[in-house]
Amino acid sequence: MKITDVKSYNLRYPLIEPFANARGWTKTRTAVVVEIRTDAGITGWGEGISVPSTSAIETYLIGHSPFETERIWEALRGNIGASSGVDIALWDIMGKALDMPIYQLLGGAFRLKIPAYASGLFKKEKQDITQALMDEAKGYVDAGFPAVKMKIGFGDAYDVKNVAAVRRAIGDNTLFAVDANCGYDVGTAIDVGQQLADYGLFWYEEPITTDDVAGYREIRHALKVRVAGGEMLQGRWAFRDLLQQRGVDIVQPDVSIAGGFTECRKIAAMASANYVRVLPHMWGSSIRLAATLHWQATLPDAPQALKPIPSLLEFDMTENGLRTELAKQPIHAVDGYVNVPQAPGLGIDINRDVLEKYA
Ligand code: CA
Repeated sequence: MKITDVKSYNLRYPLIEPFANARGWTKTRTAVVVEIRTDAGITGWGEGISVPSTSAIETYLIGHSPFETERIWEALRGNIGASSGVDIALWDIMGKALDMPIYQLLGGAFRLKIPAYASGLFKKEKQDITQALMDEAKGYVDAGFPAVKMKIGFGDAYDVKNVAAVRRAIGDNTLFAVDANCGYDVGTAIDVGQQLADYGLFWYEEPITTDDVAGYREIRHALKVRVAGGEMLQGRWAFRDLLQQRGVDIVQPDVSIAGGFTECRKIAAMASANYVRVLPHMWGSSIRLAATLHWQATLPDAPQALKPIPSLLEFDMTENGLRTELAKQPIHAVDGYVNVPQAPGLGIDINRDVLEKYA
């Protein structure tokens, strides 16, 4: 089988209601989708964050076998944002060619139903943001989610008031993570973390920029909470120091940013060797969500235990047609769990009308 055609789509979905994290307002959701066709009539889909160059496509993809994932990854490694999408599409093709879901090709699933955390609770232009956050959080608990994640990083007054309110709304039995999106420096991150110590947080995500491994170590040693990060890192080299120096308790590679399945397996192996937990980041279209489900299914519990710390899927609760409309089979959370797709490859079919609508 040979690759015959590679096409990229820049998708754009304008939000009805903008929202903010610590770094700025989001008014549009985007996705870079890649479609790879073969002479066997099999088409694969991937999602990255940048478009592969014409010369890379002509030199390293057209005419080559879609099974040469390692070789193609190395050829494209100068643009990991693009190689991520290409790699996911190649695995989609391999799965379809072998009539197997990707999680089987990756070595088999440890779980086919993944417990999810509701990832939302952004800042919005609401008159009473605290009440709005409490209502939103309560809705997630009522829908059966075992965990929620809220955006912080807006200053200690906002963070403490609203974390306290959301904890009251969700009760003591729901796991609760917070995410500062790199909005703080080390001193502020520690100060805010200390003020949040009474609210039983499960993890404190991206308190500072992920480049600052020494800063992460200071925060980890100053606070009792687990520290998480790494969603924007690309390639195994970017993760190396963070893992070897134990900058985080939880590392969060994103399959569409860090390098696709081929690279994320290596990052997961490096995390395992350094006893750092992997909980993938997920913030994208149906393609990235399906890819994340397949990869996360194959991550073993670490440590293995009678009652392991759950491998929680990041389930984006915000409005995004690229996630809810692009696949013909929408991926839902039911009672706080999301099923791993069972059809060959990624296990989803792309709706071309939706693709054209948002392209
Ligand atoms: Ca995040």
